[in-house]
This record gives sequence, structure tokens and C-alpha cells, in this order.
Amino acid sequence: MMDVVVGGGIAGLATAVGLARAGRAVTVLERRERIEELGAGIILWPNALRALGELGLREQVHGVAELEAVGGLRRPDGEWLNRVDGRRFSAAHGEVAAIHRGDLIDLLHEAAVEAGVEIRCGQEVVGVESGPQGGATVVAAGGRHLVADLVLGADGLRSAVREAVFPAAGAPQPTGLTAWRWVVDAEAPGLPAPLVPSVTIGAGTELGIVPLPGSRAYCYFSSVRRPDGTTPGPEQCREWHDPIPSLVAAGEAGGMLCHELWDLPPLPSFVHPNLPVALVGDAAHAMTPHLGQGAAQGLEDAAALACLVKTTGDARELLGAYDRERGDRARAVQRASRQAMGALTITHPALVAVRDALIRLLPGVVVERAMARWVRTG
Ligand SMILES: Cc1cc2nc3c(=O)[nH]c(=O)nc-3n(C[C@H](O)[C@H](O)[C@H](O)COP(=O)(O)OP(=O)(O)OC[C@H]3O[C@@H](n4cnc5c(N)ncnc54)[C@H](O)[C@@H]3O)c2cc1C
Repeated sequence: MMDVVVGGGIAGLATAVGLARAGRAVTVLERRERIEELGAGIILWPNALRALGELGLREQVHGVAELEAVGGLRRPDGEWLNRVDGRRFSAAHGEVAAIHRGDLIDLLHEAAVEAGVEIRCGQEVVGVESGPQGGATVVAAGGRHLVADLVLGADGLRSAVREAVFPAAGAPQPTGLTAWRWVVDAEAPGLPAPLVPSVTIGAGTELGIVPLPGSRAYCYFSSVRRPDGTTPGPEQCREWHDPIPSLVAAGEAGGMLCHELWDLPPLPSFVHPNLPVALVGDAAHAMTPHLGQGAAQGLEDAAALACLVKTTGDARELLGAYDRERGDRARAVQRASRQAMGALTITHPALVAVRDALIRLLPGVVVERAMARWVRTG
């Protein structure tokens, strides 16, 4: 028998690498026709890098990531509300990296193949049932059955595994926010060199600039839905400080990804009470992206499983320990992300002014400590 990981995204591949490197036979079932990641960039906070290190992948990540990815907060007119000293932050709390999602998925995919993981693409899982000898049976579209010792549902926000075995779990909730993401040539004419990482916050809007390796930069913009039901896109930043108008124009020319943002109500447990089935990554704890912790929490799940599986061969014991180690932590980060969303989606001009004044008053070290609260590495 073997372990089955449902979903070949960041959390699923990382989980598969950890289990396979611990000596387990692992199969990943991915519904897409190939392993790939369309998204633009991603920030890996110190806890994400630590988890990747525990999975034996720190060096590979360093090879394709931009370090010192933290900058500070600005107003749309360009005033810095505060600046984060990247070197001081890294020295105190650990390195922060920015990476193209495609590069991250490629290195996880490669590591999974090297560790002997079997990856089956074009396999949509539609259910999970009780299986023989205390195991579970994974049901794929077309009626194919796969018997497993352990099933890890890493199938994202709209997880079929969650729906099958946690029927009481709440459905994902819309946040009223839409996010645009794009990657630009950071050496294009009209852009300053080097591009400085920053997040510019407006009224219900936020635009991030994150340098990536290979002369690229990852930009994201999020905007809250207006009372008339419309959500204006990044074009509303044409009057913002430089180099935002050029970055927006480059994104409009080169193409942007656009998604509504969702939040998952916290699950009381990530582990089924009777079946050897657990959830990892967004399937367990999808959260708003305001702390940049979604993938990091999935990587923490993977690292925790990889460590625990070395201590016991008993599925119930393993999953119980996993739930105890990961449940409270991931739910707390989910809650904190929602709270951060609240501050960044204020639209009333008077409240925006109060928020900005408060941020301006905070000393840099206090901001850094607040940022570091959720990136603990110990
Ligand atoms: C705008 C935005 C910015 C973000 N920025 C950051 C950031 O800077 N840092 C950070 O840490 N996080 C960030 N996140 C969060 C991060 O993107 C997610 O938490 C992470 O990608 C989730 O990975 P996952 O593997 O759990 O799920 P997914 O990426 O959703 O992967 C799930 C996989 O399962 C497959 N699948 C789905 N259903 C089935 C099925 N029934 N059968 C088989 N396969 C299936 C899918 O095809 C997919 O490959 C951001 C999110 C957003 C929206």
C-alpha cells in the first residue's frame, strides 16, 4: 500500500517530497494534465524557507529566489509611511525570499520525482471512502479506485477531499476583494534600477512591487468591491507614485492574472476522526493573502508530516500528532490574515488618514516585530 496525496500544488508536492524522503511510497493524483503553476510571484517568509530547509530544499530555493524581499509601506503619493530594513529583519527573524511560482513548482516537482514519488496527472479525485485494513479508498473520476494507508488532501480551496470526508466544513466565503498579479521585465525602459520592494496602500486598494531574480519583478494589486458592485482594476493607479504607472502599463500590455479572493472558515480539525485522511495546505486552511502566509502554512504542514512520519508508523498516531502540531497555529494565522485584510481594505477617507497616521508613527523595529509575529521559525 502507499500514501496518496491529492493535488500537485505547492502543498501537495512538498508533502509528497517529505513523505517519500522519509521512506514512504507516495502517489500524487493531480487533476490537471501537467504539473504547472500559472501564478506570478510569491513571497517566502522565514517560516516558509525554514520548512523548505527541513524538506531538504533550501539550497534549491536559494538558487532561484531573490533575497531581501521586504521594503515598506507607501502612500499613493509616494510618501513612505515606514521602511523596513531588510538586513536587520533577516538578521533578527530569518531571510525573506521572493520567487516565481513556476520556479517553486518546478523545483518541488523535480524533488518529488527524484525522491521516487509517482505523479499521475489528469486524475480528478471525486471521493474518499473507508478502505480495507483500516486504510482509505480514493475514488477518481471515471470510477478508478486506489487503496491507501494514508490520504492527504492537498487539493486547494475547493477541496474535493474536504467535501467528501468533512461534510460539515463551511464553504469558502467571498471577501469582496479581487486581486491582479503580473510579472514585468524589471529592466524595461522607464523603470528605476534597482526596483525597490514596497507595498503602496490606498483606500481599499494595495499595490505590491517585489523584485524577482532574472531581471523580473512581481506586481500585485488588490481592490475592494464598490457599493455599486464594480471593482475597478489596477488602471485606477495611473496617478500613483512612480514607477507604478509604468508597471501597470507593462502589466496591461503583457497580461495579468485576475482572481476573486476567498476565505475558508476555520476547520476545528484537519484530520478525519475515523479514516486515515488529513488535509494540508489551502484545503485545510485557505486564508486571505494579506500576510503572505498561505503557501508558507502549507509548507509548514508538509515539514511537520515529514518529521512526524519518522517517529511512528501508526497512521492514527501520526495524524493525531499532526493535528495537534498544526491546527492551532494555522487557524491563528488564518484569523490574523483576516484581521490584516480589515486594515488594508478601509475605504472611508477619514479612516484611511487615521490608519496612515498610525502607521507613520510606528518605529521601524515595532513594524518589523509585528511582521515577524507570524513568521516564527522556532
Ligand atoms: C493574490 C494571492 C497572493 C498570495 N501570495 C502569497 C505569498 O506571497 N506567500 C504565501 O506564502 N502565500 C501566498 N498566497 C497563498 C498561496 O498562493 C496558496 O496558499 C498556495 O498556493 C496554496 O497551495 P496548495 O497546494 O494548498 O493549493 P493549490 O495551489 O490550490 O493546489 C491544489 C492542487 O490540487 C489540484 N486539484 C484540485 N482539485 C483536485 C481534485 N479533485 N483532484 C485532483 N487534483 C485536484 C489543483 O489542480 C492544484 O494543482 C497568495 C494567494 C493569493 C490568492
